[in-house]
Amino acid sequence: MLKPRGAICNLDCGYCYFLTKEALYPGSDFRMSAESLETFTRQYIEAQSVPEATFGWQGGEPMLIGLDFFRLAVELQEKHRPANMTVHNALQTNGTLISEEWCEFFRANNFLVGISLDGPRALHDAYRVDKSGAPSFDRVMAGLELLKKHGVSFNVLTTVHSANADHPAEVYRFLRDDVDARYIQFIPIVERKNDTGFQEGHSVTDRSVKARQYGEFLTAVFDEWVRRDVGTVFVQIFDVALNSWSGERPGLCIFDETCGGALAMEHNGDVYSCDHYVEPRYLLGNVGEMPLLEIVDSEKQRVFGLAKRDTLPRYCRECEVRFACNGGCPKNRIIKTPCGEPGLNYLCEGYKIFFEHIDGPMRFMANELASRRPPANIMRRMRLEDEAHLEQEFARAGRNDPCPCGSGRKFKNCHGG
Ligand code: SF4
Ligand code: SF4
Repeated sequence: MLKPRGAICNLDCGYCYFLTKEALYPGSDFRMSAESLETFTRQYIEAQSVPEATFGWQGGEPMLIGLDFFRLAVELQEKHRPANMTVHNALQTNGTLISEEWCEFFRANNFLVGISLDGPRALHDAYRVDKSGAPSFDRVMAGLELLKKHGVSFNVLTTVHSANADHPAEVYRFLRDDVDARYIQFIPIVERKNDTGFQEGHSVTDRSVKARQYGEFLTAVFDEWVRRDVGTVFVQIFDVALNSWSGERPGLCIFDETCGGALAMEHNGDVYSCDHYVEPRYLLGNVGEMPLLEIVDSEKQRVFGLAKRDTLPRYCRECEVRFACNGGCPKNRIIKTPCGEPGLNYLCEGYKIFFEHIDGPMRFMANELASRRPPANIMRRMRLEDEAHLEQEFARAGRNDPCPCGSGRKFKNCHGG
């Protein structure tokens, strides 16, 4: 992951963990030089063992570096890639700086653009504001419309926090129906309460989602998705779970047994263990001074990645959903297990709720996949189950009870009639 403007951003989202990182480089102009860009591009392409390379652009706000920088990035990729190599670019943005010109560039160069959007206006604007405190919703939606107009591939990254966590259906339906998003990520906000911005301390801010809330949010979205959107809307955590239920690796570091393959490079070429650990203790080296491959392969990074598995508390090791959860991201392992062992994930309660809830449908979908049938068959099965359940409820309902169909009318005036 590359951060061409480091932590610099034109917004000032309440929960953003990047902005405090400015303090790491006092006096810096936070602009990746053409030299660092070329060094990285050449080494990154050379390091691939398959004829494919994906460049992940992040911030802060990466678009703040300007279009010419990205034109150069694409030129350098062309210059250094072997003839048989395909290069992909994925850029994560707050969406407020997108213009016709940017869209033409994205489309011409097949960029995949990730837009940060937390739901409908009020839920999005709860925390996603600019430096003057002004809301960003209209600017993000305008950017999205431009992407759609130009046929640019996009996905949506929605953070789940204290303001939107109790509105799963509203958020999901907005993304699906109003934004027309087909690829969605739900990322929990777990923000440590401290002044350093580092992964220190054991308490979290009020903006953070509560563990149970996150589990119930995912569960509610899943219940809607599994009945009508399988195969047409792709929610990252559901896809990842299906991999786990199919006996595959999840494909997302958070739920993998070990991690360490998601390094981040700052604007000046400094490489860190992970984007969540851009802090002095996790600095591995600088691409200007050390070959990238050596940095990635270093003992320090190996230890970082293995620690995800090796520090797992016994409570996780004996957990029934460990195969899908693997204790989650180490950055959130800040609470104690019921036995008092440290290192349990803050989101544990939510993960348990979610993974236990989806077990039945996931088993079914994994079996369909293994039998070379579409997992979308789950929707028919859910419908039959729901109908059978409703029949039972109708049989039990009294004349004056609310109708089990959920219409809000009395049974005798609805299905009972
Ligand atoms: S620390 Fe968390 S986000 Fe970073 S690589 Fe490990 S699991 Fe992934
Ligand atoms: S659900 Fe909780 S106990 Fe189970 S593996 Fe995940 S974090 Fe550990």
